[in-house]
Order: sequence, then C-alpha cells, then structure tokens
Amino acid sequence: MSLTKPTSPLTGLANVRLPAWLLPAEWPQQHGEPVAADIRFAEGKISSLVPSQLEQDELWDVQGALALPGLVEPHTHLDKTFTIRRSRPSRPGLLAAIETLHKDRQHWSAEDIHQRAAQALAWAAANGVTHLRTHIDWFELTPPVAWYEMANLQQPGVTLQQVALAPLGFFADAEAANSIARAVAQSGEHCLLGGFIHSSNWDPAAMANLMHSATRWDLDLDLHIDEELSDKANGLVWLANYLSENEFSGHICCSHGCALASGTEQQQREVLSVLAQHRVTLIALPMTNLLLQDAVMGQTPRQRGITLLKEAQAAGVPVLLGCDNVQDAFCPAGSYDPLDTLSCGLFALQLDTVFDQHSHLICNPAPLTNTAQPELPLAVGTAASLVIFPGSDSVTWPLNSAARVVIHHGKLSYQRLWQAEF
Ligand SMILES: [Zn+2]
Repeated sequence: MSLTKPTSPLTGLANVRLPAWLLPAEWPQQHGEPVAADIRFAEGKISSLVPSQLEQDELWDVQGALALPGLVEPHTHLDKTFTIRRSRPSRPGLLAAIETLHKDRQHWSAEDIHQRAAQALAWAAANGVTHLRTHIDWFELTPPVAWYEMANLQQPGVTLQQVALAPLGFFADAEAANSIARAVAQSGEHCLLGGFIHSSNWDPAAMANLMHSATRWDLDLDLHIDEELSDKANGLVWLANYLSENEFSGHICCSHGCALASGTEQQQREVLSVLAQHRVTLIALPMTNLLLQDAVMGQTPRQRGITLLKEAQAAGVPVLLGCDNVQDAFCPAGSYDPLDTLSCGLFALQLDTVFDQHSHLICNPAPLTNTAQPELPLAVGTAASLVIFPGSDSVTWPLNSAARVVIHHGKLSYQRLWQAEF
C-alpha cells in the first residue's frame, strides 16, 4: 500500500484499523474483526473516534491501515547502548556481560554518552515511541555523568524517564541508601529509584533500606529483580511479603522476574496475587532473557527464561514488554523498535491474535504511570499521537511491518515507507 502524503494541517484520519482491546465493547465488527475508525483531531488531541463512514473528504484516508497509539518502551539502558563494536564479551551469560560493560566505562565521557543516547532516542522516536524509560548504572553513592547527560537529552514527542540502577549492596547502609534516594528525588519528576537484586548479592536488610528510603523521598521504583532462573532467587517473594506488611505509597515496576517461573505454583500464585493487589507492574524482557538465561558456551539453551506473563495478566498484574539492552555486551542486536520486542514475544511467549489482543504490551502507558482509572489511549481528549503501519495487516503484523507513519499531537512527524515496485 502506498499512502499519498496528507495535506497539512491534519484534521484527522479516515479508515484506520485499531486493535480490539482499544475499542469499546459495542464497536461493530466485520468477519470477526473490528471495523475501521474515523478519528478527528483538534489542537493536538483526539476530538472524536467513530466507526468509519463512507465519505470523509476532509480526513486523510489511510485505506484500512493498522494503527496504534504512541509506542511505549519501558526498559532500556541508554548509558550502555551502541558499545558492542568496542566491547564484546568473551563468554555467554549475564555476569560476563556485566564484567565487559564495567571495562567499557573507561570510554564514558559526557560526549560519548550523549552521542550514543541521542542516537537511541532518535531511532525510538522514528519508530513511533512516545514514552521511553532508561536505567542508568550508579557506581558510587553520587550520580554518574550519564545521570546528568540523560537529564539534558531532548527528543521532541518522547517523554524520557530515568531510573538509578544501583547494586543492592549500596543500600546495605541506611545512610547511604538515604543519600542515593535523596539525590534521585532532587533530580526531578522523571526520575525513579532502582536496584539490581539477584541471588549473587541478596541482602534482605539492604532491601528494607531501599524500600524505606524510597518511601521517605516519595519515589517510584523500578527494580531489576530475579533476573535468573535459580529457585534460590528471593527478590519477588521478599517484595510480596514486604508489601503485605508495610505501607508503600509509590508505584513499583518489577523488571525481569525470570525466577518466578522456577518457583512452585503455590508460590507463583501468592506472589502474583500480592503484586496485583498493589498494582505492581511486571515488565518482561523476552529478547535479553532468551539471550542471557540458561546461556552455556557451546550448548543449546533448554529454558526460555521469561517471567510468567500470562499468569500475571490472568491475576490482574499490569504487564508490559521492553527491549532492555540494545547493541551492547548484554545484547548485540536491537533497533529501539517495540515491534521487534513483540515479534520476539509472539514466539517466546506463544501469543495469539497479537494485534487485536496483545499490542497493548507495547503501547499502553498506564502500567508505567499507575494512573488509578486510566483512560484508554486515543480516548477523546487524549493526545492525537499514533503510529500507522502501511502495508501490514492484522495477521502479518508485527512481522514485516517496518513501514511507519508517526503522528505526534496531530502532526505528521516521521515516515518510513517503501515502494512495492522496488
Ligand atoms: Zn535492564
């Protein structure tokens, strides 16, 4: 399909195919799929969303192309990205990748970090990403250079959040934990507290200090937790117990949670039930989990390493998919396209009817922001920010869907098309 460029300014879109999860229950269907929509814009916001009518001359006719709200990339590492050409690990697995990246830090000048992170953000924006969260490694109790560089990054149309990723050991001392949390709180509203929580550094007293310091400074959390397959991983079980017995007013995201799949079914049910009750979001990272879990030199992996996404959804836990590392020692590939992540998830998690049922995993911002009664994206009054996939269809998508038209606040901002005859 080739779309003729719209005349500006855009007043809206005619004949656009939206996913079933985004539409009201009474939306008409044809051949088992929702009929296309007409969407009108006013001052950068959605002013109406109705089933498609025959003649809508004032709207841009996208001829039934699939579209989603602006995409969400909930978990990246912009401080590490695009370093694979100069730092490649000699062994497989998570701990070897950590060692390799520590050595790469000798290159991390403000200029080096800025150039790599800006490239990542530009790629994400051109793919249609409107919300991007990055974790940033902390090596001391004070913020690293990358923390300040990220705060200075600007990419039109993209809301950037940053998480302080500190090893759990930094929180062993209550005063040190407080000092990290204070620095994060004083960095602005887009900043969160994080931590790397693994059986290799497990310390329940440090976990308690981490939670107390976040509470004291009114911070949201995003934890790298149980990124392993060991049934000795304690993080999520401990967190569920903590939340059952203590007040925590902020919002928590748990990234990875691979070890949840190694516990007993009863333990899984109990943990997911507490996470759902406290609206804790689980962020699954299928690409790096497939690469780094059960990774042994010369051996085909036996286990997938991915958290219990379907069980979490069934229990009412908000869920998202993220890309994690891109072109660094943890993951040599990647392109900041959430469709790559969902394509990987389609096979690794065995997802069916991906566009209509599961595309929310890469474009619903509510699990990141924890709005109590979130409006669905593209509801009247929300931002007129959409991504159109010309040439794809609900069965092919998200594969073979690189062509893209990105609309930010009612304006055409990026497009990547090809001509079929080439
Ligand atoms: Zn990560």
